[in-house]
Amino acid sequence: MRYLPVHVDTQGKSILIVGGGPAAEAKLRTLTKTDAVIRLISPEVGDEVARWVEDGLMTWEQRSFKEADLDDVILVYAATEDDDVNAKIAALATDRGLLVNAADQKDACAFITPALVDRSPVIVSIGTEGTSPSLARALKSEMEQLLPPTVGALANKINVLRAHVKRKFESVADRQRFWADIFDGRDLRAQLRVSEDVLDTRVAEKLAGEVAVKKGSVTLVGAGPGSSDLLTLGARRVLHSADVIVYDRLVSQDILDFGRREAEYIYVGKTPGGASTAQDDINTILVQKAREGHAVVRLKSGDPLIFGRADEELDALSTHGIDYAIIPGITAAAAAAASIGASLTTRGRNKSVSFLTGHDAKGFADQDWKSLAAPHARAAVYMGVGASRFIQGRLLIHGADRDMAVTIVENASRDNQIIVATTLSDLPNAIESRGIKGPAILLLGYAPRDAAVIAPNMGVAL
Ligand code: SAH
Repeated sequence: MRYLPVHVDTQGKSILIVGGGPAAEAKLRTLTKTDAVIRLISPEVGDEVARWVEDGLMTWEQRSFKEADLDDVILVYAATEDDDVNAKIAALATDRGLLVNAADQKDACAFITPALVDRSPVIVSIGTEGTSPSLARALKSEMEQLLPPTVGALANKINVLRAHVKRKFESVADRQRFWADIFDGRDLRAQLRVSEDVLDTRVAEKLAGEVAVKKGSVTLVGAGPGSSDLLTLGARRVLHSADVIVYDRLVSQDILDFGRREAEYIYVGKTPGGASTAQDDINTILVQKAREGHAVVRLKSGDPLIFGRADEELDALSTHGIDYAIIPGITAAAAAAASIGASLTTRGRNKSVSFLTGHDAKGFADQDWKSLAAPHARAAVYMGVGASRFIQGRLLIHGADRDMAVTIVENASRDNQIIVATTLSDLPNAIESRGIKGPAILLLGYAPRDAAVIAPNMGVAL
């Protein structure tokens, strides 16, 4: 983001605009809606601008620009019809540390004006950093349809109601949650169209209905394999209203961004072989935060019920009588299979597929190697990168085919996804030579369907 959107307070402030032709008129159309004192400098002005002057929307000094005009203003618009003049004004203003906008000269601009949907006090500003005005226009028109003209009045009404809500809830987080429930993102279009009376009643009813002691809860949420495309709508909804988000190492920032800015984010990642938060400590955090009355989201990569130590967390919650819910997610094996276009089960070939872990509490995980070595056996191995030589050895001892297809999918669904198609005999070597560090799934008995399927993915190597 090169341009930072900010909403500047214009009350009691002066804004200078130089120019009175079409360029100035375009800028003034927005500026006249603000509370600023507008100072217009120009030897002549167009009809529309003249009317605005007559209506008292700005003061007009009928002359050319001089440097002293830059005194005591907060923003400057160089909007004459002459590019050289605008560039000169922009340079002078910049020298003084003023924010300046020069018409049609992006490089000379300290700020650019976004497309606006004005439903004061609700303002939506849309910018494309000058890349695509037509896209900005399309977005603007969509926003205009979303926001009815009454939404400004609704915002003012909410402002009044906030005082009632504030009296009822001491903590900021509780108040935010109250409002998040009122506008929970479901059918936003309809919610923005409720009348002030309906909103009044809804808030009053909700205030009356809130129990004196708010009950906290924990929702175990599957964040999927990484891409935010693979997040469920349910996960999005609870992230949006969570007070506390307790998350793992493999949860990507894109997904955390669905949480509120004000939520508390607690990282409890476990790095293989590195520093980690003990499971007991995680359980304690969940219990404690829920007991404080917070809506806690426990965000786990993939599906929370697959190699996620969910039982230990759920047991702790049950022991302490804390309400919980579970929102499933797309597990890494499913994403890996999708990436290579391989059906995990196939009629007439395998009637089952095993999801294995390469590691367990004791080290390399022991498995029913005999069954896994059978010709039609198929498996997806989680946490298998470090254990690949061990897995290979066990399978070969139990008679597995050395040429059995194995596909490694690292960072499935993410931008840095890598697919390596190999064989059982070459598995550890392929991992080493391709520098696979994980997170990765080893798909035992699966080859990529065809190059066309995986072509759109990045980093493909067959
Ligand atoms: N609950 C998770 C698994 C957690 S165990 C799930 O359902 O997916 C962590 C292991 O998951 C990693 O070591 C790796 O084997 C696998 N994994 C998680 N995200 C992955 C991804 N984007 N690509 C490949 N493997 C992934």
